[in-house]
Amino acid sequence: MVISEEKIWELLKEVRDPELPALDIIEMGIAREIKIESGKVTVVITPTYSGCPAMFMIETEIRDVLSKNGITCDVKTTYTPAWTTDWLTEEAREKLRQYGIAPPGKDIEEIFNKNTKCPFCGSDDTKLVSNFGSTACKSIHYCNSCVQPFEHFKCI
Ligand SMILES: [Zn+2]
Repeated sequence: MVISEEKIWELLKEVRDPELPALDIIEMGIAREIKIESGKVTVVITPTYSGCPAMFMIETEIRDVLSKNGITCDVKTTYTPAWTTDWLTEEAREKLRQYGIAPPGKDIEEIFNKNTKCPFCGSDDTKLVSNFGSTACKSIHYCNSCVQPFEHFKCI
């Protein structure tokens, strides 16, 4: 079997961040690079933030998905360049919104902005309830307009 980069990118779409199952690791910008050298495959990943506990699971998942397809691979983690929210595609942001999670701001000021836009109704009239949601990379907010809580993926 010929192993192509395209085939591996295709397979990696099956791998999801367990904390954000709405997106695959390519949309998340976690999967950075695929190297094939004399039949040896290396997948390079960058965690969304250092110490994200999901990364170990993602690494295992990458190996599982590829090995099911007869491909053995090495997973390498790189922290440079560091992951930024710019790596989330517009499509990925839209998917997060549909999933009921406010996507991260495009710049750091927006990330720290307490008035995160509600993903349900788009209102700015929201308040921060807790800095930590179901996972450390999400915070919990409450929308005063449509009167419901929502999570914000803040990546930091
Ligand atoms: Zn709302």
